Amino acid sequence: MRFKRFKIVLTTLLVCVFFMNASWAQQPSCSAALTSISADSLLQHLQELVGKKPIYIKDSAQFIPSRFAFHPGNALAAEYISQKCVSYGYAVRNMQYSQTGQNVIAEKRGTQFPNKSVVLCAHYDCVGSSHAKFQGADDNASGCAALLEAARVLKDINFPYTIQLAFWDEEEMGLVGSKNFPSSGGGLPEIITVINLDMIAWDGNQDSLAMIHVTPSLPQSIAYATRIQEVLKQHNLALQPFVKNPGEPNTDHQTFWNRDIPAIGLTEDYDNDFNPHWHRFSDSIENLHIPYFINMSKLAIMGLCELAQDALTQLPEPKTASYYAIYPNPAEHQICFNSSQKIVYVSIYNALGKLVFEQNLLATQDDCIAQSLPEGLYFVRLLGLNQSTIQEKIWIKP
Ligand SMILES: [Zn+2]
Repeated sequence: MRFKRFKIVLTTLLVCVFFMNASWAQQPSCSAALTSISADSLLQHLQELVGKKPIYIKDSAQFIPSRFAFHPGNALAAEYISQKCVSYGYAVRNMQYSQTGQNVIAEKRGTQFPNKSVVLCAHYDCVGSSHAKFQGADDNASGCAALLEAARVLKDINFPYTIQLAFWDEEEMGLVGSKNFPSSGGGLPEIITVINLDMIAWDGNQDSLAMIHVTPSLPQSIAYATRIQEVLKQHNLALQPFVKNPGEPNTDHQTFWNRDIPAIGLTEDYDNDFNPHWHRFSDSIENLHIPYFINMSKLAIMGLCELAQDALTQLPEPKTASYYAIYPNPAEHQICFNSSQKIVYVSIYNALGKLVFEQNLLATQDDCIAQSLPEGLYFVRLLGLNQSTIQEKIWIKP
């Protein structure tokens, strides 16, 4: 009897654990993570990165004297970042690509699509000299602090997609770190999109403008910018989004645009409120706008959290649905489109919302794709060059 009861209890427990895991995997709570983002913690990362507070490497207290590429403090900063991400439970790659250059990549594998990833990145080096101790507080300790806070508050959430937190070296030398990062191969998951943070703590005119950089050559980057604006609204963040199209090229999202990866940049206002302390000794923690920095960090972390949950499946509602037709329905091996706008991307989801087919294409009138999916109900989604999307239910029969 005891044994039998034990078995029933054990089975019930296992079933509960299974369902709890399944629901966690499907619905990580970004809202809960948002409430864990702490101003104190963000400031702590910032003060450690600029050498105002000690870091502890092998239990000995040290200060990061500078993050300038050719200063020994640069490698110490990489060690600090790496150690912090390991302490949060991430798998960390220290990717040394030259005598002086090292990227640090913290990764958490996805539960459903481990080979596809969403990247949040920032460069950790700063301008300076071998002698002067530049803080590089806004450029770009601010972005790195947001990444470290992302690592902390997202550590217990399981996402369908892999997340990569990438800290680049030598951006100030010409995007050298990001250019030396292979986008795939060597066990690296494929990159779906990238959110690059470069200077997120200056708001001199107090207009709370959040600049989102996109490129017209990759319409999906515009779709991701739209998604980030939705995330901003959804979580009631006190920021005013502004999509800069075409976006500023001289920072790490450009590296990914060059590889046809639809990255976006999230920054302070580069156009009408440029930080006067930029690349100067005065780019110090005293000259930052902390409430704005906290909001920008929240947007970046929520952006990563939401995209790692649903990636491409939550594109905006159709804008110009009448432009498209998807046929026939039921469909067999071919699914065709008729459109007055160019279609740049086709994706198909099964009834559970799982992505089962995707293809980039440039289709106009009466183009078809070939597929060999098993019989069932699917959602076919088209992304138009003008950013519009349409989704239709299609029955596929073999
Ligand atoms: Zn920068």
